[in-house]
Amino acid sequence: MDKDQVTGIGDKISHFQPMTLTDGGQEPCIWSSPGGGHKIDMGKQIFCNRSLNMKNIVAVGFDMDYTLAQYKPETFETLAYNGTIRKLVYDLGYPEELLEWSFDWRYMVRGLVLDKKRGNILKMDRHKYVKVAYHGFREMSKEDKVDAYGNTLIRDAFDEPDYALIDTLFSLAEAFLFAQLVDFIDNNPGKVPKGADYARMYKDVRAAVDLCHRDGTLKQMVAKNPKRYINEDTSIVPMLKMLRDSGRSTFLVTNSLWDYTNIVMNFLCGSRTLDGSSTCNFDWLKYFDVVITGSAKPGFFHEDSRANLFEVEPESGMLLNTDNGTPMPQVGSFSPNLLLKGENKTCRVFQVLYVGDHIYGDILRSKKVLGWRTMLVVPELESEVKLLWGLRDMRKQLRILRNKRDLIEDQVHHLKWSLKFDGITDDEKQNISCKIDELESQRDQVRLTHQGAQLKCHQKFHNIWGQLMKTGYQNSRFAHQVERFACLYTSQVSNLSMYSPDKYYRPSEDFMPHEFDILPI
Ligand code: IMP
Ligand code: MG
Repeated sequence: MDKDQVTGIGDKISHFQPMTLTDGGQEPCIWSSPGGGHKIDMGKQIFCNRSLNMKNIVAVGFDMDYTLAQYKPETFETLAYNGTIRKLVYDLGYPEELLEWSFDWRYMVRGLVLDKKRGNILKMDRHKYVKVAYHGFREMSKEDKVDAYGNTLIRDAFDEPDYALIDTLFSLAEAFLFAQLVDFIDNNPGKVPKGADYARMYKDVRAAVDLCHRDGTLKQMVAKNPKRYINEDTSIVPMLKMLRDSGRSTFLVTNSLWDYTNIVMNFLCGSRTLDGSSTCNFDWLKYFDVVITGSAKPGFFHEDSRANLFEVEPESGMLLNTDNGTPMPQVGSFSPNLLLKGENKTCRVFQVLYVGDHIYGDILRSKKVLGWRTMLVVPELESEVKLLWGLRDMRKQLRILRNKRDLIEDQVHHLKWSLKFDGITDDEKQNISCKIDELESQRDQVRLTHQGAQLKCHQKFHNIWGQLMKTGYQNSRFAHQVERFACLYTSQVSNLSMYSPDKYYRPSEDFMPHEFDILPI
């Protein structure tokens, strides 16, 4: 794109040092390369919920953070965690001993729900039935869980303001800190600021995290050394080139502001010096037709909220079309609606595909408000599908055990029922009772074995929370959202480069229980 077309909403300007750039680097093997088009590694596949014919896609849009730019949680989320603790201690009056705490970036996972008032962390299935519940770091007993969440005929919506959803990887640090604070307040009620209950502590953590994102705590550190915080992905540029060569427009819509976006995109799309460092220029803009920074998604997807589009001068980061701070008319010709309608002459349906990591902010809103087609990036999926494959025998055993348990249970019910028949002799009664005892003990045995094996299987995915997309035998709430809102989902954005830009993505066959249950295991 022409660098004058960069636009931003309310960009603030801070300054990062420019560096020098040289060309270099080898292109990875993508679909359009001579060696491309072969079988795709299972962890890099694109999965389809709703058919999508790329031939109808005129423009492909990308979110930046956690979509094009995959942050390394071990460094980036630790930075957020440490920054948040410092703000809690120095600005919000929390005790200094918090500075000694450390962060386990593997502990929390996406899709969890924080119960702000009760200090609990929950994993639920697609019916919002709470299956795993922790109070701080302590597992809740079945009774406590049922008391808190199991008794209502109308199930809680588990939404804001009483609950917080961990629906982006940005939230892992704050969820962990919340659990730590819950434990802390339980054990040291006098040590936290006056009046700080669980919900107040969550509010403080949220405010501190928010500030870390806004005041440069995180962004200045990333800007100094992007390689430490962001995974390199050499497939991004070839993917963008392939999409553009195939005639698609490409665009970027990110909530990050211009200066930071420029640094991250230089790191991802710019070439490297010999020592591996990247330099800041605007070459990466050529891979996009339109770049929107500071977009304020999800509001951005609503027409009214797009009124304040300003043009950014790339060199200075200054906003150009303002009149002493008052917005001027929109710049450029970009309008999501224009892109949507495309050239309608032949009555073909032209569509936009938007790729993002945030189920609500990127996927649900763009789909619902603008009718865009969507692809969700779920980095966790790569290891999840590999584990699924590795555990296929174990899962088969689980199903056999489950069927066995149900079969014995049915036999017990039937025998108990037959005890009620009038014409039954005492001897027969005695026999049936013995048989029931025997079967009940068998059932308990199978039930225990099944429970143990199921727990073991889930723990292979995550020691505490189990498989991301499942809770027990049901899809997790997160999986349910993915299924409903994302047309496609995959582990990395650059997996798009493994497929033809004209690919017709088709969903796998749906199964109703009546179909699934009669299939051989
Ligand atoms: P995107 O995913 O490219 O649209 O950008 C996400 C932006 O939101 C990044 O600049 C993040 O630093 C920022 N962000 C993430 N979480 C928070 C928050 O809690 N408060 C403020 N900004 C946030
Ligand atoms: Mg994002």
